[in-house]
Amino acid sequence: MDCPKCASETLVETPVLGNIPLDVCPGCKGIWFDKGELEALLKRSQGAAAASLELISPKPGGLACPRCKAAMARGGLVNPLLVVDKCESCGGVWLDPRELDLVKKLLGLTGGPDTRVEVARPAARQEPAAKAAPGLTALKYVAGLAALAGLAGFSYEMYLYLSPSGLAGQAPSPSLAGGSAALVAAGVFVMNWFD
Ligand SMILES: [Zn+2]
Ligand SMILES: [Zn+2]
Repeated sequence: MDCPKCASETLVETPVLGNIPLDVCPGCKGIWFDKGELEALLKRSQGAAAASLELISPKPGGLACPRCKAAMARGGLVNPLLVVDKCESCGGVWLDPRELDLVKKLLGLTGGPDTRVEVARPAARQEPAAKAAPGLTALKYVAGLAALAGLAGFSYEMYLYLSPSGLAGQAPSPSLAGGSAALVAAGVFVMNWFD
């Protein structure tokens, strides 16, 4: 899920607040509560049934729900002064850290889970170093030399073949020409195979 407030942050599931794994934004430290998660947290903190989480006088809030992309409403949560964003479609609630502190204060919660949120961005995926192994480099070097030798041999055979008979002093050998050509092909193939 992407953060509804930050442009390019992805929410990270983090065990905060009484070890309930919640989706937290590494940028703004906002917390997304799926339906039931905030109720569970408040119930655990209060040790009793949680207050109704129906929004008080909801208005369009302008944030899109990270879960279902519906437009979220902004309204009072428990207390008209505590204005939060809630998705009326899936029932999730978005709180920024300040709002979470207010939830605790307004409900008279003392102690309980720490509302400070520590969240780390997932480590950027490291591309494996694209460095050829030394053995592979040597193999390509040898293949390159073989291709060059094959090219030289093939050129010489072509020279013999194209020369007016007798001038080169030697008859062309079809098998040598074929072998040289195969050497060139094999060398080039091996050099390219390991790219
Ligand atoms: Zn954010
Ligand atoms: Zn939603």
